[in-house]
Amino acid sequence: MNTTIIKGNIISAPELGKLDVTEHGYLVAEDGIIRGVYETLPEQYRGQPVEDYGEELIVQSFADMHLHAPQYPMVGMGMDLPLIQWLNTYTFPTEAAFRDNDFARETYRKLAAELVANGTTRVCMFSSLHREATIILMEELEKAGVTGYVGKVNMDRNGGVNLEETTEESVEETLRWLEQCHFEHIKPILTPRFVPSCTDELMERLGRIAREQNLPIQSHLSENTGEIAWVSELHPECSQYWEAYAKYGMWNDRTVMAHCVWSDERERKALKDAGVLVAHCASSNENLTSGYAPVRVMLNEGVRVALGSDIAGGDKISMFDVTADTIRASKARCVMDNWKTPFLTVSEAWYLATSAGSRFFGEKPGFAPGNPLHAIVLRDDNLVSTTRLSPAQRLERAVYRRQEHAVHAVFSAGKKVYTA
Ligand SMILES: [Zn+2]
Repeated sequence: MNTTIIKGNIISAPELGKLDVTEHGYLVAEDGIIRGVYETLPEQYRGQPVEDYGEELIVQSFADMHLHAPQYPMVGMGMDLPLIQWLNTYTFPTEAAFRDNDFARETYRKLAAELVANGTTRVCMFSSLHREATIILMEELEKAGVTGYVGKVNMDRNGGVNLEETTEESVEETLRWLEQCHFEHIKPILTPRFVPSCTDELMERLGRIAREQNLPIQSHLSENTGEIAWVSELHPECSQYWEAYAKYGMWNDRTVMAHCVWSDERERKALKDAGVLVAHCASSNENLTSGYAPVRVMLNEGVRVALGSDIAGGDKISMFDVTADTIRASKARCVMDNWKTPFLTVSEAWYLATSAGSRFFGEKPGFAPGNPLHAIVLRDDNLVSTTRLSPAQRLERAVYRRQEHAVHAVFSAGKKVYTA
């Protein structure tokens, strides 16, 4: 038995808006699986080595539920256009570069290292349509200690000359890719890019593969008004965007839909009834002027919501920053709604950035016994304040402000994968 004991001020988010705090507590894992959080070390662990982080915070690491690996080279650039023009002008040419495996290897190694250094240990990630680059991405994530889902993108229409497959290629390459996925911590997820990128035939065949191989699915939904109008032209038989996924069997509790900025009451009810997870991407929605998603309303209605950085519509790799953007966006939404929908508190947004996403990977909220150990050790000893702050106050500050090398150590699936 391999026992890990880390000591510090332990904070976890067991439910929306609630933080459990154990000052100078012990977080214990055996063979990478959490056994418990304790104020005093239980008898059976006495004599085992303890990694003592003193006054530092020990918090759950992040689950980034929506990001595009091949857009990593364009982070921070080209945000002067709305979604569809942005895809055609900047994004598709960038993604096309990943036909070069050496470039993919070098780029994805850097991305994986940056994710881990920022405390993101679970992802739900889009690759490009390239099968080989997708395998390279999965290898690099696995090596760096990132866990979660990666999808080879499917797109057999509207990608332009350099970024399109035929329907047959898309299906065959997907099947070959699935055969090559033998990773311990990185699993495949089917990834029709979005409705305008996939013909009806492709959608139907992907839906069948999802059923036959019992795979989760990720895509985009109701991000931008121009996109929604386009989908309704492409699918006049569907009264709403989501139905273009549902009709092909891509609408269930293993589905992640990014954005849902413009989902109205009927679409939100469909999200809730099916248990679809919304990946809310506040930074991206602001950058591409997509809009302000009604997150508070969704939560009140029982829709599952977690957070995504949406690199590179989003410009923040650190989910601390994405959490802050989420709160700011919810404040904008509050103002737009005439102060009728309360904005998200820090502890609520923190839950969305951690526990809400980790549930998609089968975890229970917080540092629950039975969960794999995913944690960040966070230091803030160089920051000044006039009073002694509680651990919860220090977490609140960390969302907005962190010292250099604030992320001191990161644990993923039981292993320490990063030390500053
Ligand atoms: Zn996206």
